[in-house]
Amino acid sequence: MERNEEGHERYFIVARSKKGLSRGSIGRADAETATGDLIGMVYGGGGSARSSGTVKKQDTCPLTRHQAQLLLFVSPASRRLELLRNVQLFTKICALAQEDLVVVKHKKDFQPCLVKNLIQLGKKDKPGVLQMLGFELDLVDTEHDILSKTAPLPFFSAADIVQVAPSHLNTRQPLRDSGDLDFKRKEVSRINSMPALNSHNAKKQSISNTDVSSSIQALSQYSLEVGSMAEVISLNGLTVYGVIRWIGVPEGKKNCWAGLELDNEATTCSDGTFGTKRYFTCEGNKALYVPLTNCKPDSRFLFIPNEIPKPFEPPSATLLEDLNEDVPPVAEQDVLSHLVGRMRGIQGHFNSCYLDATLFSLFTSSTAFNRMFNRSADSDEGISHILRWDIVNRLRRSGFVPAESVMKFRKQLGCKSFATEEKDPEEFITLLLKHVLHIEPLLKIRSHGELAQDAYTHQIIVEKNQVRAVPSVQQLLEMSFVSSNLKFEEIPSCLIVQMPRFGKKFKMFPKIIPSTELDITDILHCSPKECFLCGHLAEYECFQCLMDHKLQPGKIKQYCSTCNTQVHIHPSRKEHTPHKLTDPDHLPEDAPVERHQMQLFAVLCIDTSHYVSFVKYGPNPRSWIFFDSMADRCGDDKNGYNVPVIRSCPEIGDFFSQSEEEMSKADVRECSELVRRLLCDSYMCLYQRTD
Ligand SMILES: [Zn+2]
Ligand SMILES: [Zn+2]
Repeated sequence: MERNEEGHERYFIVARSKKGLSRGSIGRADAETATGDLIGMVYGGGGSARSSGTVKKQDTCPLTRHQAQLLLFVSPASRRLELLRNVQLFTKICALAQEDLVVVKHKKDFQPCLVKNLIQLGKKDKPGVLQMLGFELDLVDTEHDILSKTAPLPFFSAADIVQVAPSHLNTRQPLRDSGDLDFKRKEVSRINSMPALNSHNAKKQSISNTDVSSSIQALSQYSLEVGSMAEVISLNGLTVYGVIRWIGVPEGKKNCWAGLELDNEATTCSDGTFGTKRYFTCEGNKALYVPLTNCKPDSRFLFIPNEIPKPFEPPSATLLEDLNEDVPPVAEQDVLSHLVGRMRGIQGHFNSCYLDATLFSLFTSSTAFNRMFNRSADSDEGISHILRWDIVNRLRRSGFVPAESVMKFRKQLGCKSFATEEKDPEEFITLLLKHVLHIEPLLKIRSHGELAQDAYTHQIIVEKNQVRAVPSVQQLLEMSFVSSNLKFEEIPSCLIVQMPRFGKKFKMFPKIIPSTELDITDILHCSPKECFLCGHLAEYECFQCLMDHKLQPGKIKQYCSTCNTQVHIHPSRKEHTPHKLTDPDHLPEDAPVERHQMQLFAVLCIDTSHYVSFVKYGPNPRSWIFFDSMADRCGDDKNGYNVPVIRSCPEIGDFFSQSEEEMSKADVRECSELVRRLLCDSYMCLYQRTD
């Protein structure tokens, strides 16, 4: 086993995921390259080495062996980072000794427990295996007696512990990082590794303390924990909302306090410091410390008791994530637990659905625009800063963006009407990309061979009889381009296609199939194209042949010179005027033609002037979610607020798994509601490059 100079094995956790290793993976570094890559291996579920590879050192956080063993038993892996970020709590958990009092979450309840043992779990310790550490605990009742033996408790992971009793209550010697000393390397999975420090009787006296029981009471009464959304009545009587980022006894206090990161800034708040100590880090003027008993669960989430959102990763600045980094989209496997539910997504307010649905479509899963944040002038207070921090990063990290953040953004859009009126998404997208992010037009389009149009979106323009009754986006886009003699100058990074519908009411087609893959090879200037008939390199294109009912009407007709001559010998096609395609550079005639595909990542829909959005959140064909920023409303018209909802809709993937023929014949009365909306209400389809 390789060791570094200090003689310690170097363990790490992946804090940022670029590719390959997912966030929260734990590994051991065997070497480090001159360029700052760690070479090593990552442990799988059972603690055995699963895969080896390299990871950028700056994307990891170093761990001791003890920390690595504790975290390895935590699942899912994303919860490991959550725990690690709660520095105070995790430090205490790492130092736990036998008979320490802790509070654990067990069967949805908070239970005070005494630590009995630290248990090695998983495969036996041998090279290439890291044994996981779990806690064996004894339940105590509120008088801290050990309960008469009931069914044995399971082993708890470090992440199950939500609180550690203040250390002055414990007369103990901490055991830290003691793996090599204290764990006898027996070939069994359970090892009693904690020496008894006190008898139970002595312990009972020492912990009969009101601080602990009131904290326990507060915890079990309200089910608040790190990551919970909470509300607090502030000094001036207003209710403020935030996420609990820290729970513990601050220096100089006797009882349990909570550190909250508020949704909005308040002048009396800090960036995470309390007195002279820092317990977490967030943006300035957002950290509020209050006694835990003053906190209540965020009532905005409690209207439907069965749908209280699960705790999720706390928002904003964290120990592990560099503030200058963009938060990556939520990983596919975490979307159902982090994003789906009530009070999820972007909260709608005052005609904002055009904007909520557009932002959600553009940024939830696609990273096509991330590089543009970096390119745009990013002053601290500027609008791109608000978009990046208050909306996009927040959406991806915490899964919820309050209406206030969206309003702050709308007010800075330059034109007053964007803050108050319903707008068209295309108008908003152009404003956003051009004036907020200062990016070049996404689409460079040639018209009749000349560079002519720069645009951010493409509006489909076709005649109804030019395509099938239930057209696909593929057909519509090709027809729209061919009938106006347009070509893409280059492959766009992102292609936003507007469906042929005008105003709020008129739609040209009752149903449109959003093609999941869009092949733009035939409408790409200068790219080699295949002859429609023989498959050789095409040299001509004929628009009049397009609708020829003997030649697959609607399909683009490009021919090699031989086929071009033969097709146009036919009397019915004598009048055609095929035009020569621009020769692709340096290409042998028999080279295979490369197809250029773009992938559908979102569909914006409209129904009676309300916009909603479908987003594809990962490679799995069934990974679709549906978002409505105003799905429900709580309270009365004046004081109420909208409840944004994200729903999982794998049925969209099932629908897309059919052939185009089957999809076009689907009877919408028999389709699920969301499939019907996707098929009938599409307004914009968003595609990105697959590379
Ligand atoms: Zn040919
Ligand atoms: Zn022709």
